[in-house]
Amino acid sequence: MNVGRSPSVHFTFETVGDGIMFGRARRDGTALANTTIVDLGAATLVFDSSLTLRSAREIAATARARTGRSPTLCVNSHWHLDHLAGNQVFADHPIVASQRTVEILLAKRAELEAELSAEKLAADLRELERQQAALTSERGRAVYAAPLRLHRALLEEAVELRFTPPTQGFEGTLELPGDRTATLLTFGSGHTESDTVLFLPDDGLLLAGDLVVAESHPNLTSGDPVHWLRVLDRIEALRPERIATGHGPLGSLATVAAVRDYLTTILALAEQPGPPTIPSRFGAWDGPEQFELNVAFLRARGRGS
Ligand SMILES: [Zn+2]
Repeated sequence: MNVGRSPSVHFTFETVGDGIMFGRARRDGTALANTTIVDLGAATLVFDSSLTLRSAREIAATARARTGRSPTLCVNSHWHLDHLAGNQVFADHPIVASQRTVEILLAKRAELEAELSAEKLAADLRELERQQAALTSERGRAVYAAPLRLHRALLEEAVELRFTPPTQGFEGTLELPGDRTATLLTFGSGHTESDTVLFLPDDGLLLAGDLVVAESHPNLTSGDPVHWLRVLDRIEALRPERIATGHGPLGSLATVAAVRDYLTTILALAEQPGPPTIPSRFGAWDGPEQFELNVAFLRARGRGS
């Protein structure tokens, strides 16, 4: 087995504990969101199944290589497709999410299936290609490389894809069986109406989904940014040493502080008139287009109140 450089295409896997692999989504892959594999002793768990079947299969193959068994439990941190469209690969075993997330997914199922249909993907792809072709600057055209790659991969997979929602919901807290303490927790609305984290206290590790993203603009438009700050309090109270983020590199409590700074800053900015500018300390973060969407969302919902 390759010990040094990861041979993976969609993730860069990093061992972050005994039997725990954090997979950071590669910019040139099709996973889009991070994943984490945890050997629970009694089971091999996958926390978030990523966007495409090919990236989900890479998670499954990595789990087999590193834990000696195929994943036997999958958890979805929240309902966004980049964290669960790969569920189909893990469908022989339970797929767990918060009860509210299960309900949201059942309500949104037709809409999400339509988004992943060949017709919709082909139309979106044509539109992206048209927009890219209209640009003259090389830098402008390069911005389209990642969305084009993701759409092409999803379109190739559309004929095979079966939308696979979670099979099991939980409320509040769920202790997972196995050799190590592993607790699923949900703290209510934040990044979405209901996000799930996995706390591994013996390993000082928290798997946070998109409640904590690193060096990336968080997406505020599906949840409650004010309550998200309370959720960050709960995460900090757990005192994790390291945090497996939903996007970007492995984080820590400093990453939580950066997300808190972003949320409080943008909540204040949204209340000021005029077009907002990205504060320089967030200037190098991934996904700058999300900033304007976040401000527009906050203004539309009555200045975040
Ligand atoms: Zn998300």
